[in-house]
Amino acid sequence: MAVTRYFRMSRYTPRMKRNASARLRRLAALALLPLLPVPSCFGWGSTGHSMINRLAAESLPGDVPAFLKTPDAINEIEYLGPEPDRWRSLAEPELNAVQAPDHFIDFEYADIIGTLPRRRYEYIAALTAAEITHPDKARELQPSRVGFQPYITNEVWERLKSAMRDYRELTAKHADTRPVEAAILFYAGWLGHYVGDGSQPLHVSINYNGWVLKENPNGYTAEHTIHAKFETTFVDANLKPTDVQPLISPVHPVSDEWDAYMAYLRHSQSLVEQLYQLDKQKGFDGAGTPEGKQFTAERLAAGVSMLRDLIDSAWIESAKPVPQWHEPSGEPSAAPAKSGSGL
Ligand SMILES: [Zn+2]
Repeated sequence: MAVTRYFRMSRYTPRMKRNASARLRRLAALALLPLLPVPSCFGWGSTGHSMINRLAAESLPGDVPAFLKTPDAINEIEYLGPEPDRWRSLAEPELNAVQAPDHFIDFEYADIIGTLPRRRYEYIAALTAAEITHPDKARELQPSRVGFQPYITNEVWERLKSAMRDYRELTAKHADTRPVEAAILFYAGWLGHYVGDGSQPLHVSINYNGWVLKENPNGYTAEHTIHAKFETTFVDANLKPTDVQPLISPVHPVSDEWDAYMAYLRHSQSLVEQLYQLDKQKGFDGAGTPEGKQFTAERLAAGVSMLRDLIDSAWIESAKPVPQWHEPSGEPSAAPAKSGSGL
């Protein structure tokens, strides 16, 4: 119960701390801190995230550099699956606060701004503008409450592509590539966390931990326990890599990371209600039902397939020449860095 409560607070109330009653609740919670473990209900749980990362690394196609497929590399990528959840410790409160919204997106609110822009700050500006035009939803439309899931994923994927481009350049110069190999492994593992979150339907909806819509004709659970039950308790007890492996799709490198990833998130969104239906049928209670287990294995496999394809795509795309800067119509992001600026 305490863990669930912490989840909701950390996700949806970043600005409520100024409220006096909230401050009292926080003081009460602080008194309990030594008793609370680091919450484990922030994604697939450690088991699911580790499994997604390991299976993706193991299934990388032969065209990626060999260092990515060594046992040590696979172990490292697996280890990094839960890494962003380690940044949610109360020992690092500022880090926790700044990165918590990266794990989810509430499409019900995000879609109010129309087609989502690809750049984080344009998205923030659009949501901020929507707060003014939709004063009744101003609180819910705060960007940190709506979430940044596709943005962090795109940004980490671009970091991975950048490092892979550097790897290609160093290889061509016959230079030592071990430092950049370490960076690539970190980015690939870090990326895996968010891709894994994206396959979990409860990470893309306001119904993320109990049905919150007033209209609930099918009587879906409103208890704030379904999130952790599905992704952590049920997975830990019932899902093995051998359940997920047969469901991994054939290699399919993506041509446009943003579009492919948004389609992937939209598919997860389309499964939110099915997840609640399965829960109502006790699909995730104890050993669950065959349907509940199949659904969960398919979601984990979707994460594996997308992560594998995104790593492969970053490698393929890293071979392409960097766009040239054209004055004055060129995109600012394509501008060459000022030499010696140290930026
Ligand atoms: Zn997460």
